[in-house]
Amino acid sequence: MSEKLQAVKGMNDLLPPDSARWEWFEETVRALMRRYGYANIRTPIVEPTPLFVRGLGEVTDIVEKEMYSFEDKMNGDALTLRPEGTAGVVRAVVQNNLLYDGGKRLFYIGPMFRHERPQKGRYRQFHQVGVEAMGFAGPDVDAEVILMARSLWRDLGLSDVRLELNSLGQPPERQAHRAALITYFEAHLDQLDEEAKRRLHSNPLRILDTKNPAMQALVEAAPQLMDFLGEASIKHLNAVRAVLDAVGQPYRINPRLVRGMDYYNLTVFEWVTDRLGAQGTVCGGGRYDGLIEQIGGKSAPAVGWGLGVERVLALLEEGGVTPPAQGPDAYAVVPDAQALPQVTAVIEQLRAAGVKVMQHAGGKDGQGSMKSQFKKADASGARFALVFGGDELAQGMVALKPLRAGGGEQCLKPLADVAAWGQDLVGGAA
Ligand code: ATP
Ligand code: MG
Repeated sequence: MSEKLQAVKGMNDLLPPDSARWEWFEETVRALMRRYGYANIRTPIVEPTPLFVRGLGEVTDIVEKEMYSFEDKMNGDALTLRPEGTAGVVRAVVQNNLLYDGGKRLFYIGPMFRHERPQKGRYRQFHQVGVEAMGFAGPDVDAEVILMARSLWRDLGLSDVRLELNSLGQPPERQAHRAALITYFEAHLDQLDEEAKRRLHSNPLRILDTKNPAMQALVEAAPQLMDFLGEASIKHLNAVRAVLDAVGQPYRINPRLVRGMDYYNLTVFEWVTDRLGAQGTVCGGGRYDGLIEQIGGKSAPAVGWGLGVERVLALLEEGGVTPPAQGPDAYAVVPDAQALPQVTAVIEQLRAAGVKVMQHAGGKDGQGSMKSQFKKADASGARFALVFGGDELAQGMVALKPLRAGGGEQCLKPLADVAAWGQDLVGGAA
């Protein structure tokens, strides 16, 4: 190999011990989903390109410049690495007719791909957790998914994540607002930057989302969608607010919250933090009642969110939140390689009984000194060493040696009766 092979820029290896943090996070997510009755769905990472080009609607950052698209060498199909989860889930729900007997509550965890400039909190392969509640039209489910995110912050021990809320109304309301926006921006054409000019007629709503400081004042004074909402849209928003108020969840109505994807209607929301610099949105979502039909299904309402796993984990790290210790219960010290078959059989019984045992790995020259084995035992984080010495084995015993303060006295345990005493070694999170 002449050149040193490196991971693709913006795509990261996930290594121990950081991976333990990820596993803990994922387990916390799965437990949360079970509590709310959301079932796991797993869709392919590669999808037909038209799914996103159509599914994401008008001119979005993602469709414009962020997708990893390529041609299938065999048949010329246009394919894309999924940049987000919702379109694929909708495709799967439609293709498999999942809504035939009513609404479905679904969640996913997995990698997404966007060709962005890599920086802190922004990668080319990143991970999302998402929930999608499909077939439910009521504001109660909007509130439900918002509250799921709130529960997740609590389960993870995260504070400082704020909720921002808005309503995008229904398509006719947006059309009226859009017309007013175009008129407004056309009257101030000299103040628009290049990007805004390009978006003026394709997707003027996105101009409101500009990060250009020079355009802030202009954008502040633009016509607000809120003033174009009809009675039903206001009622829906107020019903969501009533639930949030009842559970004591504070929120800020942000009339400029428009979200990156164009398929949303009515409720949109973001969970944001000030502690991650510019990449402050950790979770975003809303209602997308038009998307299922757009992707070829029978019209059905839906609401969901997507959460950036890297950003949530960065926030946890920043806040000093650490997952429960992941070390083994016991480290097996095996002085003599001759005893390995017998010892391994005992260790397998312990593991079958639920005890986390790390067995010392010998080398081609034998097991190594007792001193070096105990050093490894210490480094493993185990609370006990199980010493399978020759004398002990001859008596049908193993020595149990506590490695941490408060672990009790060293003692002998019978090999014949592993399940009985093995249980006493189990501690901490599995
Ligand atoms: P942003 O405005 O930060 O680009 P977005 O609107 O593109 O976000 P969504 O498409 O709503 O983001 O995705 C949901 C979440 O996924 C975001 O809130 C964020 O936490 C995370 N996310 C989006 N893009 C990236 C990325 N390139 N790297 C890491 N996380 C990301
Ligand atoms: Mg983006």
